Amino acid sequence: MKYPACCPQTNWMMVTPERLGKAKLSPAAPVAGDRGTLLGCTKCDTLWYLKHDQTQLFRVPPDRAPRVTTWAAEPTQPPAAVIDALESIGATRRTRWGAPGQALTFPGRGATRDGRELPRCLLRFQQGPPLGLGYGEVLLASELARLEPSPEAVEPVVRQVTTIEWESGRGLALTPVRAPNGEGLNLNWTVHFFSDLGVLGKDLVLARQTVAFSSEKIFAEDKSSITLVVADWNEEHLRWCTPMPSGIQTWMERAWTTYERTP
Ligand SMILES: [Zn+2]
Repeated sequence: MKYPACCPQTNWMMVTPERLGKAKLSPAAPVAGDRGTLLGCTKCDTLWYLKHDQTQLFRVPPDRAPRVTTWAAEPTQPPAAVIDALESIGATRRTRWGAPGQALTFPGRGATRDGRELPRCLLRFQQGPPLGLGYGEVLLASELARLEPSPEAVEPVVRQVTTIEWESGRGLALTPVRAPNGEGLNLNWTVHFFSDLGVLGKDLVLARQTVAFSSEKIFAEDKSSITLVVADWNEEHLRWCTPMPSGIQTWMERAWTTYERTP
């Protein structure tokens, strides 16, 4: 992505006060609560989001700017009817390093308050604004009327394991799963929804090393088919987290083991 020459040329993952002081950014829309800061480029008005602890800076894509400004005005939460459905859907918790802040996602079938159906609706409680890079559309939780379990949604335990898979090279982080006919497939990185080869997400089970895998059968999430719905982070929702199955190391545990083996 090409940014205007007057702006920082990338998102900054390590912000320093000196570096920030030199950037031509000034306060833009006020942000309610301890949820970060919105800055605007003094030359081109591009919006930038500075994380609440001032460690990371993200460009707000122009098409997301109106919702980011609405998000800034007040914290956004889904209605009670949606909260009631969360337990039956089950949470996916972001566990990998590199992604900014805490996040908890709930994939389902949804509808907006103005009656629009959302076949692939991913509700995400998160600490930052609705940037949603790569997603087809991004809404605020206050716009959602309904969320229910979807047959395309992958089971919570499988989803959770896809969040910790270790990058094995070539940009792949594969979770082996098995379809009802016994066929082995690989999910690449975190996957919430699946509908391919006549198989739906709900039917996939973890396979580990028990079946033979074809290296061509690799499936990544098609984010452009998903409507991301952003709600503000709430520690209480961690009670909906799905426990890891026994015998599966977390990303951190595996990283530590690798480190210890390195001479
Ligand atoms: Zn600029």
